[in-house]
Amino acid sequence: MAVLDTLDTLAPIREKVLAGERLDFDDGVALMETDDLLALGDLADLARRQRIAASVAGQAGDARREDRGAEGAARVGDEVYFVQNINLYQTNVCRVKCKFCAFAKTRKQEDAFTLTDDEFVEDAVAQHALHGFTEIHTVNGENPHVDLEYYAGLLRKLKEALPDVHLKFYTASEIHHMSRLEGCSHEEVLRTLRDAGLDSMPGGGAEIFADRVRALIAPGKEHPDEWFDVHDTAHKLGITTQCTMLYGHVETYEERVDHLLRLREQQDSTGGFLSFIPLAFHPENTVFERRGFRFTTGADDLKVIAVSRLLLDNVPHVKAYWIMMGLPLAQVALHFGADDVQGTVVREKIFQAAGASAGTEQKVAELVRFVRDAGRIPVQRDSLYNEIRRW
Ligand code: SF4
Repeated sequence: MAVLDTLDTLAPIREKVLAGERLDFDDGVALMETDDLLALGDLADLARRQRIAASVAGQAGDARREDRGAEGAARVGDEVYFVQNINLYQTNVCRVKCKFCAFAKTRKQEDAFTLTDDEFVEDAVAQHALHGFTEIHTVNGENPHVDLEYYAGLLRKLKEALPDVHLKFYTASEIHHMSRLEGCSHEEVLRTLRDAGLDSMPGGGAEIFADRVRALIAPGKEHPDEWFDVHDTAHKLGITTQCTMLYGHVETYEERVDHLLRLREQQDSTGGFLSFIPLAFHPENTVFERRGFRFTTGADDLKVIAVSRLLLDNVPHVKAYWIMMGLPLAQVALHFGADDVQGTVVREKIFQAAGASAGTEQKVAELVRFVRDAGRIPVQRDSLYNEIRRW
């Protein structure tokens, strides 16, 4: 009887998904509240296939699909993307002191660092010779001791040294911080950085948008309106971005759904989000660890992936960030709506500082095996989801 009740709860939502109807706030909360994890995963997988099939049908990829023949066409929707990338950091000095953060330092702390542009570029070039990545992903603390030229100067030197590498740099929070430091608008900062070599932006700094949660976990951070204004401006300037949600701390299901729907609304307006990355909260080395907070459960991680895929019907890709989830759970997430595992991720520091235990270097061959073992098609992509190689 309990099983029948659970199925009844999801049945109206399944009907909406099958009909291609948009889900609303109440649907989102019902999905978050369900204990029928397998039914939820099945529904999200259906939404993923619908989403990918729609985007493939709308692109010039139709011709490529015909080239691959009937078998290839039948498997459209089974692709899992990854990128060869490296995470590098300019500075971990930060003025904000978010309570969930194990990365930030004050300038006087022993392990604080603020690299010069020469130090950063030299390291990046050496790492590129070793790993041949196509993307550098860089996020930093909000360092009050540097200026906009610190960032723009680095981008110029890096672009000159590695012209073919995509530079995915700086969260919306960092861009807002730079605008405050420099006394100029978000648009002026973004134009300066874009002209210096910025190619796209990561999605960090979103945390949870609800004022109640932000006041508890990140009281020094900018208001969500500023985060949205940066992304809105970037999209209008032709800079694509990612979006995120940090979950598994003090937020409610309703606040998660509200967060996702605000992202969907922004995407309706500007369409510049390429992917959504759910970030599970890791409490180690934060004040939350001392208060007894523990890692999110696998069931909750899968639930967030699935509900995100279902609610964010206009965001092309949902990532299962393996460095955070670990490879085994990320593999399961590929059946809960995710279609991207991020990348080879050489030198990840932020989740490592907060207790993530997955290895920090994942070779292409291992990722290919990992995707294939999940019954899916590995596709190496560039940062804008152009296909580089398919297995
Ligand atoms: S999350 Fe970002 S802004 Fe917050 S303390 Fe850490 S580095 Fe600073």
